[in-house]
Amino acid sequence: MGAQLLDGKALAQQIRDRIAKDTAELVAKTGVRPGLAAILVGDDPASKLYVKNKQKACDAAGIYVDENRLPAGTTQAELLALIEKVNADPKVHGILVQLPLPKHIDSRVILEAVSPLKDADGFHPHNMGRLVEGMPLFTPCTPKGVIKMIESTGIPIEGTRAVVVGRSNIVGKPVALMLLHRHATVTVCHSKTRDLPAVCREADILVVAIGKAKFVTADMVKPGAVVIDVGVNRLEDGTFVGDVDFEAGWISPVPGGVGPMTIAMLLDNTLDSAKRTAGMKT
Ligand code: NDP
Repeated sequence: MGAQLLDGKALAQQIRDRIAKDTAELVAKTGVRPGLAAILVGDDPASKLYVKNKQKACDAAGIYVDENRLPAGTTQAELLALIEKVNADPKVHGILVQLPLPKHIDSRVILEAVSPLKDADGFHPHNMGRLVEGMPLFTPCTPKGVIKMIESTGIPIEGTRAVVVGRSNIVGKPVALMLLHRHATVTVCHSKTRDLPAVCREADILVVAIGKAKFVTADMVKPGAVVIDVGVNRLEDGTFVGDVDFEAGWISPVPGGVGPMTIAMLLDNTLDSAKRTAGMKT
């Protein structure tokens, strides 16, 4: 069977259109306009591009953006002061601190300083803990996008064998938890997993987030499986490819798969936070 493309770009656009409509309604009904504080430290070109894309998406949806671009030499204390400021700003309902931060800044300290009530990326331990319990206030954007893409196939998650390759705090672990809460039987793999191809072949749902170009090949995938490729790898010729190299079942492409969904989920989290501020149900 040839691959059926899971078009993350089109799905993300549908979600962004819905967010734009909901945002306009929220403003009309309550006067509350969702606001995102975007914080970028330094000149990393990829991070700059990510923040620019997130800003553009917010603009298109009618979400206010408080843009904060800080020089690479910004101290941890200066960054903490800015976070305190946006934590207290009533116009801000979501805070995005673009990672990675420069080496002299402790990311953990910064992420823990973000108010759990404005933690649009869902990286604060409070929200991670709530995710373990199955009742997160904010769900991390990439994992949330991955789940929406799986759901868009119409194939029920309940009862499936799901394999997640990668166990990072920002992708692998939250995806595994979210699949577990949706009643999949979940296996989490990592660099020490023995016979990874055999484990992958058992998967009805295979999520790959390792950061190794074309690592997963066709022989590692059960025919008809749903495959979500989270990896983004830059090749020497400047092009981008995912972690998966094959054609079978449902596959999310790179680019145009999980990336656009991550942005849509950031907007979704910010809108939900603004709705909670306005006393509305989410
Ligand atoms: P990390 O580097 O934090 O984690 C990688 C994980 O993959 C680790 O758990 C590691 O295992 C595992 N791993 C590495 N090599 C192997 C291997 N040979 N076999 C099995 N497991 C392996 O990466 P992230 O989770 O942050 O990101 C993963 C990929 O997703 C990257 O390409 C990143 O760019 C992309 N990404 C894309 C996003 C998007 O919006 N599209 C958002 C976030 C990430 P161990 O724990 O044992 O070291």
